[in-house]
Amino acid sequence: MSSLLPLEINSKLSNVGTSIFTVMSALSNKHGAINLSQGFPDFDVDPLLVSLVEKHMKAQRNQYAPMAGVPSLRASIAAKVKKMYQRDLHPDTEITVTSGATQAINSAISALISPGDEVMIFEPAYDSYVPSIQLMGGIVNPVVLEGPDFRVDWDKVRQQFSPRVKMVIINTPHNPSGTIWTEHDLEQLKDLAREFSFVILSDEVYEHLVYDGHHHLSILGDEELFSRSLVCFSFGKTLHVTGWKLGYCIAPPQLTKEFRKAHQFQVFSANSPMQYAIGEYLEDEAKWTGLGTFFQAKRDLFLQYLSQTDFAFDPCAGTYFQVADYSAISNEPDIDFANWMTKEIGVAVIPISPFSEAASEQRLVRFCFAKKDQTLIEAGERLQALSK
Ligand code: PMP
Ligand code: GLN
Repeated sequence: MSSLLPLEINSKLSNVGTSIFTVMSALSNKHGAINLSQGFPDFDVDPLLVSLVEKHMKAQRNQYAPMAGVPSLRASIAAKVKKMYQRDLHPDTEITVTSGATQAINSAISALISPGDEVMIFEPAYDSYVPSIQLMGGIVNPVVLEGPDFRVDWDKVRQQFSPRVKMVIINTPHNPSGTIWTEHDLEQLKDLAREFSFVILSDEVYEHLVYDGHHHLSILGDEELFSRSLVCFSFGKTLHVTGWKLGYCIAPPQLTKEFRKAHQFQVFSANSPMQYAIGEYLEDEAKWTGLGTFFQAKRDLFLQYLSQTDFAFDPCAGTYFQVADYSAISNEPDIDFANWMTKEIGVAVIPISPFSEAASEQRLVRFCFAKKDQTLIEAGERLQALSK
């Protein structure tokens, strides 16, 4: 008989299961469906980028990168930010390269949130925010965004605000709804910052994916807001390499200093050869300036098919996701409907309720259109089974 005492596990995330992205991609694979669920491209990465990784691996750039990131990559990020948002950054004190935006978000929260601090989020919210807050003993203060337009109701924000809120997490363009913030939203946030002291964590991983002539309004474009913000980005989204798990966090020096205290002990540094490769690749602006046009064509192709079905939707303004209402097709809860779509229609989608408890009453699912045209056409044809 063992003399060891029984193990008592005190779960810090007792209400957390497997991420919906993992669940739906596995179900999609099991049923051989077309996977429009988890957000990743099915088209090839630019061979030039792959050859640059090989070049830097062969040049023996295979040891630890500097903790804050490879200098040439931080210089390229600074040049890109200057071009896009007219902001001069100091790569040594304001840019940190991370293992994806997920790590950037987690490091920002763990560096700045203490037990009992409130963090305001907008729901539906990207699924990593709540567990990251809870792991630090923070309290989630969720503001529900109502469909179909999912705009922020600033009266509601004010009603729910108090000095206990130490951080507000914003996400524009917004996953899953595809809405984008306006000047009005930024002004409202600024008004709030005149009354209360809080840090802004701005998740801008879809900065390039904005359509119909709109522009992405970054926190980086506003001096006052930037002075209290950490802004997170993902090369996975920008360069079609979600599996590389590389991103970065931009923040003024005093916030970057705190951010790096967590970052250096969570990962120390992100992988080096890919940092060198991306740094070189980004020197050519053409590699990232045409992304909005590229994805808008995919959105429009997919929506041509979706509009011939009984799904109801407003075309998304940003991201590579389209949310659609299926209440004319079924009254089942969204998780059941997503499972049915995957098994019976052969198109996997993401239910919205895992992004928001309030969404469980709604009849909404999310499609990812970051796919080859041929994939979108085949999925679109399968969806025709859902028309009157
Ligand atoms: N934030 C949002 C809104 C996302 O959709 C994602 C998914 N990529 C992330 C953060 C995480 O990005 P990464 O894959 O770089 O960790
Ligand atoms: N960001 C992607 C999405 O929203 C998935 C990220 C993940 O699988 N963790 O689908």
